[in-house]
Amino acid sequence: MLPVNEAEALILNLVQPLDSQQDAEVVDLSSAAGRILATPVTSQLDFPHWDNSAMDGYAVRYADVQNCSAEQPAILEIVEEIPCGFEPQVTIQPGQAARILTGSMMPDGADTVVMQEVTKREGDRVVILTAPQPQAFVRHRAAFYQAGTPLLPAGIALNAPEIAVLAAAQCTELPVYRRPRVAILSTGDELVTPDQPLQPGKIVDSNQYALAAIVAQSGAIPLMMGIVRDEREALKEAIASAISTADIVLSTGGVSVGDYDYVEEILAQLGAEIHIRSVAVKPGKPLTVATFPQNRKMGSGAAENQLFINKPVLYFGIPGNPVSALVSFWRFVQPALRKLSGLSQGWEPIWVKARSLHDLRSDGKRESYLWGCLNLKDGDFEFQLAGGSHSSGNLINLANTNGLAVVPVGTTFIPAGEQVLVLKI
Ligand code: AMP
Ligand code: MG
Repeated sequence: MLPVNEAEALILNLVQPLDSQQDAEVVDLSSAAGRILATPVTSQLDFPHWDNSAMDGYAVRYADVQNCSAEQPAILEIVEEIPCGFEPQVTIQPGQAARILTGSMMPDGADTVVMQEVTKREGDRVVILTAPQPQAFVRHRAAFYQAGTPLLPAGIALNAPEIAVLAAAQCTELPVYRRPRVAILSTGDELVTPDQPLQPGKIVDSNQYALAAIVAQSGAIPLMMGIVRDEREALKEAIASAISTADIVLSTGGVSVGDYDYVEEILAQLGAEIHIRSVAVKPGKPLTVATFPQNRKMGSGAAENQLFINKPVLYFGIPGNPVSALVSFWRFVQPALRKLSGLSQGWEPIWVKARSLHDLRSDGKRESYLWGCLNLKDGDFEFQLAGGSHSSGNLINLANTNGLAVVPVGTTFIPAGEQVLVLKI
């Protein structure tokens, strides 16, 4: 049994990120949300595009107003009104000003904006009652971004702020990493789909749906490969087909020590290198992590049993219990998927320190994850343990939770009121 942090590091080390050239595609800005930038972006536009006003007021020459006050106001002739979106036509001379609005382009000759609140309009003249700072309320061209310099680096996710930046910079076509493909298969003779009649002894395959949902939410493409019986040949065929199409394969079930747990045996037959067999984690102890050698035929025996793989594939055999399957995904698969997707950082889960509202218990032998809710109370996080059983088969009370509290190896009891680390889910 590998300690959790060693398993996490080993898995991240096995991941080969998508290639920024071969695995890139161009998408339109309007469909770029959530995608990962594959190549750095540069713009030919300065930002702001030109000197403009940050206030409604008057564009003036600083020299004309630097000594003015309510007692000795400066009186300037208004020579132009500059609405937003128009190019000024007049150069401001000594003793002159232009009416200007927020975002309007600064006229030549002016270097400072006086806000409207410290002025008095008298026909075509403006009375300035307070001396401004030099260059006050002018947003200078290129103050925020200079054309030709790096705008956004490769390896970042395009969320609302980045989309806004790209739109403002008129970058409408973007090179992004293709979405990773994640094959999901459920193993077990007992499984039926949610729409099949439930005969005695059967169990509904919830894992396939839960994992497809979280894979899609992670920005990858879930390939739902269905239910595979606990038969060696069927399993071998399904796994072979999954690894030939996907970047990551997730199978649930069949990785314990039960009589029909064939996954590891079949991976070995297909020539996989098995890196992890079990992790000291609860739930989720049986975890098989394997890779396949690239660019060579693999598997033994007849030619039709051999498989040629020309890309890296990471295989996760995760336990069948529904809670174990999700905890394994959050803890081990999601960081790997993030790294594979081209993200340059931020692969690891997000941890929050919270005060537990309940006693937390574990056998102390494995790192234990208990699910519940993180709430913000008076500026600090609290962790409220989900009520009911914390058996790995009880998926019902996992609903509507948002955190997994960790009880470390060697700790059997954390009393209510203590701080715990909580993994955000
Ligand atoms: P296994 O890991 O195959 O030994 O399965 C462990 C437990 O998880 C058994 O009770 C299975 O019935 C249940 N299980 C296995 N696969 C699934 C699945 N896809 N959806 C829901 N429960 C499952
Ligand atoms: Mg099974």
